Amino acid sequence: MSFRHPIFSSRRRFVKELTVAGLASTVPASVFSAFARIVRAPSTPSGQPAVKNRAPLARSAFYPLPLGAIRPAGWLQSQLKIQADGLGGHLDETWADLGPNSGWLGGTGESWERGPYFLDGLVPLAYLLDDAKLKTKAQKYLDWTLNNQTTSGMLGPRSNDDWWPRIVMLKVLTQYHEATGDPRVIPAMQRYFEHQLAELPKRGLRDWGKFRWQDEALSIIWLYNRTGNAKLLELMQLLRAQGYDWVGEYADFPYKERITAKRIKLADGGGLKDLALATHGVNNGQAIKTGPVWSLVSGSEADRSAVTRMIAELDKYHGLPNGMFSCDEHLAGPNPSQGSELCTVVEYMFSLEQSLGILGDAALGDRLERLAFNALPGTLTDDMWAHQYDQEPNQVECSLHREPWTTNGPESNLFGLDPNFGCCTANFHQGWPKFAASLFMLSQDDGVVAAAYAPCEMRTTVRDTPVHVVEETSYPFRGTVRLGVNPASPLAFPLLLRIPAWGAGTSIKVNGTAKPLPTPGTFTRIETTCMARDRVDVEFPLEPRVSQWFHDSVAVERGALVFSLGIGEDWLKLRDRGMTADWQVYPTTQWNYALALDAAAESHQVTATDTEVRERPFSAKGAPVKLHVKARKLPAWQAEDGVAAPVPQSPVTSDQPEETIALIPYAAAKLRITAFPWLKT
Ligand SMILES: [Zn+2]
Repeated sequence: MSFRHPIFSSRRRFVKELTVAGLASTVPASVFSAFARIVRAPSTPSGQPAVKNRAPLARSAFYPLPLGAIRPAGWLQSQLKIQADGLGGHLDETWADLGPNSGWLGGTGESWERGPYFLDGLVPLAYLLDDAKLKTKAQKYLDWTLNNQTTSGMLGPRSNDDWWPRIVMLKVLTQYHEATGDPRVIPAMQRYFEHQLAELPKRGLRDWGKFRWQDEALSIIWLYNRTGNAKLLELMQLLRAQGYDWVGEYADFPYKERITAKRIKLADGGGLKDLALATHGVNNGQAIKTGPVWSLVSGSEADRSAVTRMIAELDKYHGLPNGMFSCDEHLAGPNPSQGSELCTVVEYMFSLEQSLGILGDAALGDRLERLAFNALPGTLTDDMWAHQYDQEPNQVECSLHREPWTTNGPESNLFGLDPNFGCCTANFHQGWPKFAASLFMLSQDDGVVAAAYAPCEMRTTVRDTPVHVVEETSYPFRGTVRLGVNPASPLAFPLLLRIPAWGAGTSIKVNGTAKPLPTPGTFTRIETTCMARDRVDVEFPLEPRVSQWFHDSVAVERGALVFSLGIGEDWLKLRDRGMTADWQVYPTTQWNYALALDAAAESHQVTATDTEVRERPFSAKGAPVKLHVKARKLPAWQAEDGVAAPVPQSPVTSDQPEETIALIPYAAAKLRITAFPWLKT
C-alpha cells in the first residue's frame, strides 16, 4: 500500500484494518462477510491531500479534493438540505425500486441501475451535510454490496451480470472510500477489476456499458493512483477497445438533425442499437468526458481537445440557452421548445467537473455553472420532492401531451415522482452534491484552485501544511466573492481563480491591495505567501448580457444566471404518489412577448433589482434578482397542445403597446420563456 491514509486515528488501527481486508481478499466470501461486518466506517475525514496521477498516466491540471474536504455553506447548504428533506433523503421510503426488496439489498426487486444511481447522490449528500441519518441509509446498500462479493469478484445482485450498473456502483465506492476510508473498498474494487479483466474477452461490453465505458475508466484511474497495480492499465485498454469511439464520432459529427423515433427504428426494436445509443442524450452527456479521461492514458492532444469539439458540435446543432443540448430523449435540434432529460443535466455536470480537473480549462467551469445554476434547479420543484424528465427553455405548459418529444412519452415534462421513466428519479441526486464537492481543486503544482463559485469552506493539505479556506458569497446572485485563507503556518503557494468568459473587468484584491485585471476565460494565478486570516476579495461584473439562439432569438443573462419570463402557474395535482405527487402546470398569464432590444448592441436597456438572497434563491418567491426589459406582445406566436410554437425568426414587428416585463432566474420560473424574438427598431 503506497497511498497515504491520514484519516485513521492510529497507525495500529490502520494496520489492523488493512490486515482484515487483505485476509478477506483471499478467503471465501462468507468468511469475508463475517470479518467485514465488524469494521466500522471511521468518521468523516478532513484535511486529506488530493491524490495525483501515478506514472505512466499523464498529469492532470487539477485534482479533485477527497469527498469531505469541502463543506457547503450559505445558500448552497440550504439547497443541499432541501434535497435531503425532499426526495433526496426519502426516496427509499416511498419508491419500491429502492425499498427493502431492492436487489442491492439482497432482495428480488429492482436490481439494475437504480440502487447505484441513488447512492451516487446519497453518499456525497450524506457526507457533505455530515448527516448521520443519511449515512446510515447509504450504509445498508454499501454493506450489502461489499459483504456479498462473489468468490470470483463479481459485485452486485446475482440476477444480472450487466457491466453497466456496476460502473455506477464503482463511482459510489470511490466517493464512499474518500469520505470514510472503509478498508473493504479497495480490495473489493481490485477483485472486481481482476474478474472483469478475465471476463471481458469472453463477455464484452454491450449497449449501455459499451457507450458509458469512460465512467468506469475514471474509477480504474482512481484505484490505479492508489495501488499502482499495472493490471488496471490492461483493463483500461480493454475497455477502450470494446467501448464506443466517441472521440472518433465527434471528429466528423454526423448527427446534425433532430433524431426521430423512425430514424432509430424505435418501433422495430432499434432502441438499443448503436444508432439509438450514439444519439441518446444521457450517453452523450456522459461521453463529453471521454477525450480528457482517455488522454491520461494516451497523452494525445487530440483526446485532450476532444471535449471542446464535442461541446461545440452539440451547441451548434442542438444547443439551448439553459446550457444544455436538447435530448428528449434523443438529440432534438436547437428549437427551445424541445426538452432535455434530467439525467443528462447531472451527467453533463459530472463530465464537466472531471474534464475541468484534467484540463484546467476555465470554459468548462463556465458551462458547469450554467448548468448548475439554471438547468438543474429549473427542472425540480422548489422543495425537491418532484422533478421533470424533460425541461424546455420555452416551457409554456406542463401537461400530458405527445409533442414535442423525439422519443419520450406524454408525461415527460410533468413534475412528479417518476414521470416518463424512473432513471432520473434515481439519478438526479448526484447533481448538487458533486457540484459542491468540485468547487475547489488542487493544481498539479499544489495551488488552491477556485474552480466554481458558491458559499463553502474547504480544508486540505498544501505542501504538508493544513489549509482552511472560507468562501463567503451569494454568487451567482451577487458578484462579490470573499476568500478567507488560513494556513496553519505561513505558506507560499499559488491561488488560481477562475475568471469566467463574461468576467471582463473583474477586480481582485489581496488583503486590500489591488491585483492587475485578470483575463476573462482563464484561471488567473496569484503567487502568494499566506498568513492566517489573509483575505482575497473578488468582484465580478454583473452587467446584463444578451446571447443569440434559434431563429436569431435572444436570451438575457447576468453573470452565470440565465433569465426567463416567469409565466403565471396553476399547479394541478394529477395523482398522489406516496409521499409526493405528480403535477401538471398550466399557464395563467400571457407569454408571447418580443423584447425591445437590439441583439447586436454593446449594451442593453435592461435594469436590475436586487433583493436579499434568502434560503430558496431558485424559487419564484425567493428570487433575489429581477431584470426589467421593454417588450411588446406578439399575438401570432401561440402554443399548440401545450407546446410553444418555434420562436419566430427575429427581428419581428408588433403593433401592440410597449410594456416593461420582469425576468427572473431561469430556475425560478417553472413555466417560462427564455429564448425571445426581438423587435425591429
Ligand atoms: Zn433519466
